[in-house]
Amino acid sequence: MARINDNFLKLKAGYLFPEIARRVNAYSEANPDKAGDLIRCGIGDVTEPVPEATRKAMHEAVDELGNRKTFRGYGPEQGYEFLRTAVVENQFAGLGIDADEVFISDGSKCDSGNILDIFGPGNKIAITDPVYPVYVDTNVMIGNTGEAGENGAFEGLVYLPCTAENNFVPAIPEEKVDLIYLCYPNNPTGTAATREQLSAWVDYAKANDAIILYDAAYESFIQEDDVPRSIFEIDGAKDCAIEFRSFSKIAGFTGVRCAFTVIPKQLTGKAADGSEQPIHALWSRRHSTKFNGASYPVQRGAEAIFTDEGKAEVAELIEHYMGNAKLLREACTEIGLPVFGGVNAPYVWSVARRESIRGACLIKC
Ligand SMILES: *Cc1c(COP(=O)(O)O)cnc(C)c1O
Repeated sequence: MARINDNFLKLKAGYLFPEIARRVNAYSEANPDKAGDLIRCGIGDVTEPVPEATRKAMHEAVDELGNRKTFRGYGPEQGYEFLRTAVVENQFAGLGIDADEVFISDGSKCDSGNILDIFGPGNKIAITDPVYPVYVDTNVMIGNTGEAGENGAFEGLVYLPCTAENNFVPAIPEEKVDLIYLCYPNNPTGTAATREQLSAWVDYAKANDAIILYDAAYESFIQEDDVPRSIFEIDGAKDCAIEFRSFSKIAGFTGVRCAFTVIPKQLTGKAADGSEQPIHALWSRRHSTKFNGASYPVQRGAEAIFTDEGKAEVAELIEHYMGNAKLLREACTEIGLPVFGGVNAPYVWSVARRESIRGACLIKC
């Protein structure tokens, strides 16, 4: 009989969101009179339609595919240069990131999980607690952890507690770790990391030869001027960080699917023989072997959010979701709950009777 990957059996609790959906369905069935009024604060899905600039660009791209002269088949696995250039010019201007360091994909969830393919066994992995469950589960699947304990924590992972006391940015660990997952602005707590806090992490990573896996899916929701938008705004980050970004939340792309990962060419990791190897080359090899490029109309649609029309539409979307966050913040405050986040991210976090409440504001209020 074919052997399975036993690591999957460690994931007893299942993925969080199907479990939330199961409970919501059970509640709705038991309370049919309330089902229509439920505000779903589980998975952070968007509710607002895809911007017109994007739809227009996608329509045109589809028409190009219908004409033999402009038809395109397989595109470059790394993504079309028009999109990689637009990303660099619009989102990394002045940070010294090259279009060649951007890898377009069909989602940050996949990228942040797949990235483990290029790292070897034996790495010490630090994750924040609470955390986007993808980081934990993908480490379990690939065999980087032991079993889950009573409290659900996996043996072998270094959990970095994020609490109201540390403003949901974890303390630098005393032990040495090799890979660190950071997500700011944060899902699920909605908090942002300051320049000083990120600088401390970059200093730690450089001193310990660690790599920071920085998830900036919510970068566009940042409202305050002094909050860094990219880990690459921090001196030295190009020696120790990978950044993940996605079009999902900023432009209604959760169903359209487009994201990207930035890997500086100077970033290295250690091979078994002790030699230093560029991470960019490994990911390039991985990406072009296991991925065949995001769809052409989708990449044209993503490019369009950087036009003047697209930027204006995205700004409106952000304003809408941040308005939802404000409503949730105010509602929590009104009923006497402590509330965090919702200022630079569309998430708010509250704590009641020792149970945490998370609220994803990507909902229609
Ligand atoms: C929504 C989200 C993403 C984006 O995932 P996609 O696969 O690009 O839709 C990435 N990271 C976090 C923390 C998220 O909440």
